[in-house]
Order: sequence, then C-alpha cells, then structure tokens
Amino acid sequence: MSTTNRKQEALNYHAKGRPGKIQVIPTKPTNSQRDLTMAYSPGVAEPCREIAKNTDDVYKYTAKGNLVAVISNGTAVLGLGNIGPEASKPVMEGKGLLFKIYADIDVFDLELDANNVDDFVKIVKALEPTFGGINLEDISAPTCFEIERRLKAEMNIPVMHDDQHGTAIISGAALMNACELQGKKLSEIKLVINGAGAAAVSCTKMYLLLGVKKENLVMFDIGGLITPERIDLDDIRLEFATQRKDITTLADAMKGADVFIGLSAGNLVNQDMLRSMAPNPIVFAMANPEPEVAYDVAIEARQDIIMATGRSDYPNQVNNVLGFPYIFRGALDVRATAINEEMKLAATHAIAELAKKPVPEAVNLAYNAKNLKFGHDYIIPKPMDQRLITEVSMAVAKAAMESGVARKQITNWDAYVEELRT
Ligand code: NAP
Ligand code: MG
Repeated sequence: MSTTNRKQEALNYHAKGRPGKIQVIPTKPTNSQRDLTMAYSPGVAEPCREIAKNTDDVYKYTAKGNLVAVISNGTAVLGLGNIGPEASKPVMEGKGLLFKIYADIDVFDLELDANNVDDFVKIVKALEPTFGGINLEDISAPTCFEIERRLKAEMNIPVMHDDQHGTAIISGAALMNACELQGKKLSEIKLVINGAGAAAVSCTKMYLLLGVKKENLVMFDIGGLITPERIDLDDIRLEFATQRKDITTLADAMKGADVFIGLSAGNLVNQDMLRSMAPNPIVFAMANPEPEVAYDVAIEARQDIIMATGRSDYPNQVNNVLGFPYIFRGALDVRATAINEEMKLAATHAIAELAKKPVPEAVNLAYNAKNLKFGHDYIIPKPMDQRLITEVSMAVAKAAMESGVARKQITNWDAYVEELRT
C-alpha cells in the first residue's frame, strides 16, 4: 500500500461511522420505566445518601473504581511534538481503547488547555472524586516532572505519567533479560544514554534501581555530553553528569560500551559506532517513529547484538502496552492510593519473568510466528499474550499490599486470577 493510501486509510478509520474511537455504554438494565426510576430520580437518591454518609461507598455504587482519566495537554505527543490538546485527542482516545481491550478499564480522555504547572495541577486535583486513577500522557519535559511530583503528593489515587514510567518498566524488563542472554551483570555494564528527556531520565532511574551503577553511565542531550561543567542544565540532568574526561562525542562514548539506550531522535547512530561497542552489545533504539539506528542496519553491523526498538514491525518492540493496562488493573483492584516504586519494580520483574516461560501457541499464531522462545529476538513478551493480565496485575496488586498503599486486601488469589482471566 502506498503512503498516501495508508494515510487515507488511517483518516477513514477514525472518521467512519460515529467519529472517534470510544463511546459510553450503560451497565444496568434500561428497558422499563421502573429501570429508569432506579437509574435516575428518584432511585438514584439512595446511593447518593449512602455516599454522602460514607465517601468510600462511591466505589460501591459508582464507576469510580474502574475509571481512569487519560490526561494530556498535547505538549509532547508521540513523535509529533507540541501539537496542542485537540490534536492530541486521537492519541488519548487510542489509549482509552487499549486500557479497555487489554484490562477492561474504562477511560475518560481529557485534553486540557493548560500549559503551566499550577493550572494543570489544580484541574487534575479537582478530578479526584470522579476517577480511580490518573494516567498522565504526552506532557513535555521538564513540566511533566513537576506536575507528576505534585499530583502524587497531593492526591490519594494512583497517578502515573506513562511516558516516563511505562517506558522505564518495559525497557527495564528488556534490559534485565538482554543482560542475562548476553552474559552481562547489571552492576557492571557500561551504558550510553542518548536523550535526557522525560523517557530517558525515568528509564535511567529505573536502571539504577535494577542495579546499574551511576558511574557506569553517560548521558547526552542535544547539547552533547552531560558534564558537571555545563551551565545550561537543570538539576534533573546534572544528576547524571559524568566525571569521565576521556570522551566528548557520542562516537567516543560508544567505544567499549555494553549498552546503548536511545530515547532521542532518529538515525544518530552508525555502523562504525556499533562496531566499536563491547562484545555482545545491547542496543535499545527507542526513538519513534525512526529509531536512533534502524533494526536492519544494526543487525548487519553486529551478529552478536541484542536489538530492540519502539516499532511493531521488528522483534523486541518496547511497547508500553505491556505495562500500563495491568499496572492500573492491579492498582485499582486493591484500591491503591499510589503507584509506588515497589509496584513499578514488581511489574518490571513480572514482565521479565514472563518472557522466559514457554510461549502459548495462541501467541505464536497471533504473530504469525513458529516457535517464539526466550532469546535474542524475544526478550520481552508480546502485547497479545493473555498471561500478561494475570502475571503483571497480580504482581502489582501484591506489591501494593506489601508496601502499604492498598486500601483493599486480596485474600483469595486463585479467585482473583480467575476474575482477571474472564
Ligand atoms: P523528550 O522529553 O522530548 O526528550 C527527547 C530528548 O532527546 C531530549 O533530551 C533532547 O535533548 C534529546 N535529543 C534530541 N535530539 C538529540 C540528538 N540529536 N542528540 C542527543 N539528544 C537528542 O521526549 P521523550 O518523551 O523523552 O521521548 C524521546 C524519544 O523516545 C521519542 O522519539 C519518543 O517517541 C521515544 N519514546 C519511545 C518509547 C518506546 O519505545 N516505548 C517510549 C517513550 C519515548 P534536549 O532536551 O537538549 O533538546
Ligand atoms: Mg505517550
């Protein structure tokens, strides 16, 4: 299909029939006058009275407990940049669709005309009565860090900026497994991180939690290597400044490196750079839609490489959909007050472990694959793997309970798993 046809097909997909990708569907009978007197006045007054007496009953009588807000101001949308709130709406509706099909979570997508931190925080905070959780999406750095920090501190429902933490969780799982396959230790690997935005900062923090040593990494932004001498940087970036004096350029840094993490822009890494890396290198070129180095180019340069990208048309796609539906599922099911580090780590480990288990035939079929198994071309599970919902949601719910942020306890885990499956 030509590019023009593909573009038109995408536009038709969105415009055909009822415009957009989601709708609201009633969950109670509405066939008779009697049903309607229950759904609305006068019947509806009863749950109102109960909730007025005991606020927590909002979870019993309304959709709050299964409702997540996907919220953006459209300042950093996909690889499209600052395109504004209206233009971000197809993405947010799409995210709502993914929440629904993967984890049966209902979503209201909210596109806000609010670019400064105070305005944004004030609006989102006021939404707490309505939602069970808040998924922040496609908000530009550094505003996104402050927005998330404040909302987490000030709200009592889970808040997660998926571009930061979703990517950190999935790529963290991928990094653990890639190291295992390449015979490298997380505490010893030397990393080059290209990009210092929302995703790169959050991923790097996750890798440190997983055992990577700060002195073993160097980070680049568009201005070059991040060093303590740079006067143009905020504290968020300076935290990752290197003391090394022997490098200036990306090409210098790649010499002997074990791992390259790209969360920057397309086509910045060439084959010579890849050839200069240590034996059995790991390259996650995650810029979208064009990775820092194309999959085929990388594979051609090094036979011993483990290569991942953000693209669905190559092996090892680092795709946030492996995480966010199930992280929120687990968090909602124990009515967690937050999504904390323990829960994120639990999700990371659950995703990594799942990749090592035998792959069900249904997954092979869904991807037109013969014999997917843990190895260079399969370091993380596939999005259509139905075991994700049980493995990841359960791990997250358990971690919430163990770390003391669950307001509801699950005691019968077999029943919970059964519920997740259906
Ligand atoms: P962001 O906040 O805009 O960060 C981009 C970073 O890349 C900035 O620090 C920027 O430097 C740096 N950069 C741009 N061009 C560069 C260059 N030529 N050399 C070195 N650094 C350069 O965006 P983000 O949300 O972190 O996302 C970054 C990229 O990763 C995007 O392409 C995004 O689509 C992709 N991503 C992929 C996944 C995935 O695969 N699952 C997930 C998240 C993000 P300055 O700040 O100095 O301008
Ligand atoms: Mg996003």
